This record gives sequence, C-alpha cells and structure tokens, in this order.
Amino acid sequence: MRVAIIGAGAAGCFCAIELKRRLPEAKVDVLERGSKPLAKVAVTGGGRCNLTNSFEGISSLSEAYPRGDKLMRKVFRFFSPEDTVKWFEAEGIELVLQDDHCYFPASQDAMQIVRLLLQRMRQLGVNILTGRKVESILDLFNEYDTVVVAAGGIPKAEGYRIFDGLDLETVPPVPSLFTFNLPGSPVRELMGTVVEDTVASLAGTKFKAEGPLLVTHWGMSGPAILKLSSYAARYLAESDYKATLLVNWLGGAGEEDARNILRTIAEKNPLKQVVNFHPEPIPSRLWTYLVTKSKIKEDARWAETGSKGMNRLVDTLLNDSYEVRGQSRFKEEFVTCGGVSLRNIDYNTLECKNRPGLYFAGEVLDVDAITGGFNLQAAWSMGYRAALSISEK
Ligand SMILES: Cc1cc2nc3c(=O)[nH]c(=O)nc-3n(C[C@H](O)[C@H](O)[C@H](O)COP(=O)(O)OP(=O)(O)OC[C@H]3O[C@@H](n4cnc5c(N)ncnc54)[C@H](O)[C@@H]3O)c2cc1C
Repeated sequence: MRVAIIGAGAAGCFCAIELKRRLPEAKVDVLERGSKPLAKVAVTGGGRCNLTNSFEGISSLSEAYPRGDKLMRKVFRFFSPEDTVKWFEAEGIELVLQDDHCYFPASQDAMQIVRLLLQRMRQLGVNILTGRKVESILDLFNEYDTVVVAAGGIPKAEGYRIFDGLDLETVPPVPSLFTFNLPGSPVRELMGTVVEDTVASLAGTKFKAEGPLLVTHWGMSGPAILKLSSYAARYLAESDYKATLLVNWLGGAGEEDARNILRTIAEKNPLKQVVNFHPEPIPSRLWTYLVTKSKIKEDARWAETGSKGMNRLVDTLLNDSYEVRGQSRFKEEFVTCGGVSLRNIDYNTLECKNRPGLYFAGEVLDVDAITGGFNLQAAWSMGYRAALSISEK
C-alpha cells in the first residue's frame, strides 16, 4: 500500500505515526510544502503548545467547535481528549493541566512535542518529503493508492485549486479567532485593563460569549472576544467586520443584580464620590470611564445620582456598547473557518464519499474551534481516525 499524506502538520504527522504502527509494511510519504515539518505546532500556545483541553465546563461540543461539533462527537469515540493525554504521557511527555482546563507539556516547550513526533516518524520509517508542494490531489493518485489531505486551513479560496477535478463542495474561507478593532473609542486608553468575568455579545444577533476581556491599544481582546469572533466568524466576515459589541462588565449579572450591587454601595457611602467606590470586579480606571460614559459628573456623590443616574450606570455596566470596525490578528492563535465541506465525507471513516481512497483530517475540513487546545485536539483525533480507517480497509 502506498499512502501520501499532504501536510506535515499536527493531523498529518499524527496520522502517519498511527498508520505506520498499524501497517508497518505500507509506504507512507508525508509531502510538506514548507522546509520544516510541524512548523505551526512549534509556535502553538505561544511556543508552549496547548495540546488539548479537559473539556470541563463545556456542556455541548458546539460550544468548543462552532463548526464540526457533530463530526467531533464521532471521532472522539475513537480518539478522545483523554486518549490524547494518555497518548502523550505514554510517549514520555509529562503534561500539566492549568486552572483554565488547558493542557500543556510540563516542559512548557512546544519543541518537545515536535521532537517527539519527528522521532516517532523516523523510527517507524515514515518518509517526510519537505519542499514538496502538492498542486493537484487528483494527480497524486497516479503514484499512490491512498491520499490523506491534512493541508491545514486554506485561508484564500484560490488555494482550493488543489481540489480541482474532485467534484468537492467547499465552504468559503474566512478567519476565526481575532480581536476587535474599535477605532476612535476612548476605551483604548485603558489598554491592559482585564475584567475576568464578562459577557460579550453582538447587538441584534444571538452571538454571545463569556470569559475574561482585555482592553488593548486598538480595541478589545481576551478569551471572551476570541470566542465571540469564532462563534460569529462568518457573520462578521459578511458584515465586513462592522458590528455593535455589547459588554456586560458584571458577567452573568442581570438588571436586578446590578441595581442591588449599586444600591448597596450607594447606601453605605452616600457622601462619597461615585468614581471612588466601584463594584468589586471592575478595576478603578475602568469604573471612572464607565461613570463618565453614564454622564455622571466626576465629582458627583452617590446620594446625588438619582434614579436616572442609577439607570444609566446599570445600563452602561450591563450593555456597554462599542462600534467594531475591523479585526486584528497579532501573534494570537488563529484558524480558518470554512474549507472542505463536511458533506463530502463519511463521518465514520473520514473518507471522501465520491472518491474512495481519499481521506481528510484537520483544519482543511470545515471544522474549527475556540482557543484552548480544541483545535489541536481536532487534528490529533482526525489524524488518528483517518489512520484507523485506512488500516481497517
Ligand atoms: C500562532 C498559532 C498558535 C496556535 N496555538 C494553538 C494552541 O496552542 N492549541 C491549539 O489547539 N491550536 C492552536 N492553533 C491552531 C492549530 O495550530 C491548528 O488548528 C492546527 O495546527 C491544525 O492542524 P493541521 O494539521 O490541520 O494543519 P497545520 O498544522 O496547519 O498543517 C498543515 C501542513 O500542510 C502543509 N501544506 C499545506 N498545503 C500544502 C500543499 N499543497 N502541499 C504540501 N503541503 C501543504 C502546510 O505547510 C502545513 O505544514 C494555533 C494556530 C496558530 C496560527
């Protein structure tokens, strides 16, 4: 059996290892256009490699995988996040689980993962051919009987030419996992401010995400914003990255809760200035900004706020609104939403429905996740599943 795997990324290399372990006699060639295999894994998680997640707090897979949750449910039956932890530990990698449920190697060094995968491929006799850009998948079938496409996210539709002649349905690529630009907004002066428990949403839509929010010098970032960008990736692309962002600075708090919090502060400190006494989770600089935004004078005392002032404060705390105009990706984890449509593949095997012998694994498919190790988990699980299907065939 001659197998070509397109792409020496996380999915391709994992697939190669698992395939060679099952079929030692197969010729397995990994064709990589770049000069270094696993170049992206080397920079994941800021060079620390967030290789999976405990999935604690994820009540439905669609929370982690806005695209591809149903496929993930199927592939996790064969290679789950727990299997990932066991796999790397069995290979001698000590892992640590952070409070945010993300797994990293204890060495905090992504290169440890890269070296391990490269070593295993070498030991098993996988051929890694670098500098080999595949232009046509169809042509590869002249040389190989099985082809696994693990070419990663294809950010531009021109890249889909590699699929010519295969009669595949594709979903237009758009970026996911980006930060929001808020040009002209004075909030940017508060750059570096972090609020741990917020809810960010897009006005007029159902898109909503919880988590820490970070004010940056160009707008807003942090897990809540990255998650929101993932949920709303296609909607935002179609709106040309123009939207109204609403921030609830008190996390899950509703109007009654906010009113009670403010009332308690006001009753305890009637003669103190509003700007000097803020609700617990709001940093003082942000509070001053929110008070000003609520049109309350900087020297006003709590006793002077009145019911209208209170209403404005509650509204700003719960529905603080910003005009998003554009997005940025700066050294952050980013992925492509879109790719080869899942309609083309058999969920049980990852084989192409209309082209036997052709398999897909990883971000090349229309599968992507929020940050937190879920994207690499998808790559390991799909790489594993493709290897298993090929070996069973
Ligand atoms: C900066 C950054 C940090 C990230 N950090 C994390 C993290 O900590 N945790 C996490 O879960 N996810 C992270 N991600 C996302 C994660 O890296 C990807 O989702 C994952 O690597 C996808 O794996 P893949 O094997 O499908 O694709 P890739 O890892 O992108 O590999 C695809 C490979 O195919 C090659 N290729 C493409 N086209 C061709 C062709 N025509 N011929 C030959 N070769 C080709 C590419 O050169 C590449 O090497 C991060 C992403 C970025 C950009």
